[in-house]
Amino acid sequence: MNVLVINAGSSSLKYQLFDMKTEKILAKGNCDRIGLDGHLKHTPVGNGKSVFDSDIHLPTHAEAISAVIEKLTSDDYGVIGSLSEINAVGHRTVHGGRKFFASALIDEDVIAVLEDCIRLAPLHIPANLMGINACRESMPAVPQVAVFDTSFHHTIPEEAYIYPIPYKYYEENDIRRYGFHGTSHRYVSALAIERLGGKAEGTKIITCHLGNGSSLAAIKDGKSIDTTMGVTPLEGVPMGTRCGSVDPSLVDIIAAIEGTAIKETMDVLNKKSGVLGIYGKSSDFRDIETAAGIDISDGSTKEKTDADHRAKLALDVFSYQVAKFIGSYIVTLGGLDALVFTAGIGENSPYIRKAICDRLSGIGVVINDEANAVRAVDFLDITGNGSKVKVFAIPTNEELVIARDTMEIIT
Ligand code: ADP
Repeated sequence: MNVLVINAGSSSLKYQLFDMKTEKILAKGNCDRIGLDGHLKHTPVGNGKSVFDSDIHLPTHAEAISAVIEKLTSDDYGVIGSLSEINAVGHRTVHGGRKFFASALIDEDVIAVLEDCIRLAPLHIPANLMGINACRESMPAVPQVAVFDTSFHHTIPEEAYIYPIPYKYYEENDIRRYGFHGTSHRYVSALAIERLGGKAEGTKIITCHLGNGSSLAAIKDGKSIDTTMGVTPLEGVPMGTRCGSVDPSLVDIIAAIEGTAIKETMDVLNKKSGVLGIYGKSSDFRDIETAAGIDISDGSTKEKTDADHRAKLALDVFSYQVAKFIGSYIVTLGGLDALVFTAGIGENSPYIRKAICDRLSGIGVVINDEANAVRAVDFLDITGNGSKVKVFAIPTNEELVIARDTMEIIT
């Protein structure tokens, strides 16, 4: 059984084809600049076929899917003989609203709910729908499954998901905390539970998904009971370009300073804030760490006379806020067994992991600096001697979760 996993953005479409018997990737790739000009990078894995990496005309997501299918089945770049070898498609879907608590086989009802969710995720759902519709058109006989970023967080209790605003917005407009990165929090917390002995009951874990977008989840007995992102992915810790939780009055204040309408003002908070806003030159943590005088290979701090103060400040604000949310989740959980770092920064930045953990020394978190000084290409235990809390860095694999859910639903 082969499952094609699709992650459709507004102008991009990432894909991975899994052989579900081995859970190995057969091919992966990325269509970029859809609707502009178009580029496709397609990489067959392990069968000796060539990589395709070239500009091609991709006016819509439908052409992008056709190009992907063509490459997957072609003589030069292919990994399968024909379309019939794709048994199902799993779609990363950002929002399931209040209706979806688990992954779902896509039918007209699911499409209708997704269309209704556009008001909650206007940037992401239309792109997800374009990917879904393109696949349904190109592969009408192949079952399609939606895997929602929000569904792992459906166990969050009312007191944590209700905003202290007029209740009618929840009742009439579905405004509540939803949370995102659910597949990632679910995947790494399950691996952490395995390492803690395999029994979810009684475990208290905080997972830190730190990437371009970042969120934390408080996970008790294997279930999410709070998470930092909210009705949209803007809330919570500071991110690459998003501000995270700030005083909501800033919308009004920035609008007055810039003389802009709400939409443009929200663009400042979504696209020009976070560590980019503070440092000013890049949202990429590799650039920021380098500018701050940090050796990104092992996290050590170099003597650097021209270290950029704003780069260091951006890192300090980030690690401070992440540590502060971890502290609050220790209250939420009533203790902590394991702290887990994942995603681009969590897996690859020894410096950020240490900067966060050093701020938690008062509650007994100690890491082993030597174990921490590498990228987590596999499960990495960085717990130090005498630590009251296990500290892990675990590579996430959202695509595999989507493929597994898809298999479970179609079989
Ligand atoms: P996305 O949210 O888009 O999936 P990723 O999880 O890939 O993002 O994370 C991207 C972030 O990871 C970027 O800020 C990037 O700089 C950071 N990152 C990747 N490698 C390193 C590294 N070696 N050191 C520090 N940060 C890194």
